[in-house]
Amino acid sequence: MKIKQVFTTYDFCDNGGCKAIKYCPSCGSPFSYCNDHHRIRPQCLQCGFIYYKNPAPAVSVLIIENQHVLLGKRGPDSFAAGKWCLPCGYIEYNEAFLTAALREVKEETGLTIAIQSIINVNSNFLSENLHAIVVVLLAKVAAGIPAAGDDLVEVAWFDPAGPLPEMAFAADEDILKRYCAQKIAGLPIDDDFRR
Ligand SMILES: [Zn+2]
Repeated sequence: MKIKQVFTTYDFCDNGGCKAIKYCPSCGSPFSYCNDHHRIRPQCLQCGFIYYKNPAPAVSVLIIENQHVLLGKRGPDSFAAGKWCLPCGYIEYNEAFLTAALREVKEETGLTIAIQSIINVNSNFLSENLHAIVVVLLAKVAAGIPAAGDDLVEVAWFDPAGPLPEMAFAADEDILKRYCAQKIAGLPIDDDFRR
C-alpha cells in the first residue's frame, strides 16, 4: 500500500499559508508586509515584529482493543463538526507530544492509555487557517471506560476494516486502511513514556 503522509483539501501552495492578521500581537499597531527569507510576511510598522505562521503540531491516537478502534464524533463547534475521527488534539507549548497524547485521550475519551509506538507523521492542509503536522500514535487501553468529553460528543468502537462512520479527515481513513493492510508495529517510543 502506497505510503501517504501529505493530505490536502485545498491548494495550499497558492497561498502564503497565512490569512492576513491585522494587528501586531506584541504592541497592537497595524501590520504591514515585508519580504523575509523570500516569503511575504506580516510585519509591525511600529516595533518590527514579524509574524511567522507555522503548521500547528498535533497528535492523533489509534487506540485498539479487541481488534476494534475507538473513534469520536466531533462536537458542533469543531472543524468538520458531526464527523468522526481518531482522538486527537494540539500539543501545548510546554508539553511533549507523548504527554499531549495522554492528555487529549483522557480529556476526549476518559481513557488512560498505554502508548505503544509512532505509526506515522502527517501534514494536513485542511483550510487556509488550519495547517497541522500530526504525529500518529498506536496505543492500547490501560484503564477506564470510554466516555465522550471535550471536543467529542460521542465515542464508539469500530472494526477498523469498516464499515466506518463519516470520517472528518482523509488522513484518519488512510491510517485505518494502512493499519488493516499492514498491522504496522511502528517506531518505539521514549522509554520514559512506555508503560
Ligand atoms: Zn508591534
